[in-house]
Amino acid sequence: MSDLKSLYQEVILDHSKNPRNFGEISPCTHTGHGHNPLCGDTVTIFCNLDNNGTILEISFEGKGCAISMASASLLTDILKGKTVEQAKSLFSEFHQLVTSEQDNNDPSEEAERLQILAGVRQFPMRVKCATLPWHALMAALEGREPASTEFSS
Ligand code: ZN
Repeated sequence: MSDLKSLYQEVILDHSKNPRNFGEISPCTHTGHGHNPLCGDTVTIFCNLDNNGTILEISFEGKGCAISMASASLLTDILKGKTVEQAKSLFSEFHQLVTSEQDNNDPSEEAERLQILAGVRQFPMRVKCATLPWHALMAALEGREPASTEFSS
């Protein structure tokens, strides 16, 4: 169980207990929903995009384990003010971070903030918890509904 203990680091607990950007925003141009049936996590992402594809506001609602809530909280915190393209490229960096044995030697500043979730790579079940909010975000940005981690991790 000591590995699990190190997984629930202080930052993760902080974000899950005091989630940033929690609650629906208005106006809201894009909404995406994600469900992780393996753990029971549900996340809805709300975005307000401008015409240039900049994320002016982003928030989430949902319930689930500490990992999924912390990941959603971090996501919204990091992506506010970023573009859709930046969000997509950060998702691929994050996906690599939580699934690959190989460390990214040149992570972006944003990806570095997501490093605290890297511990989930040892727990395949937890990888789906960590990536769920990102799948919900991609569903929101692509107007695809609903997102499920059953399709891919
Ligand atoms: Zn979970």
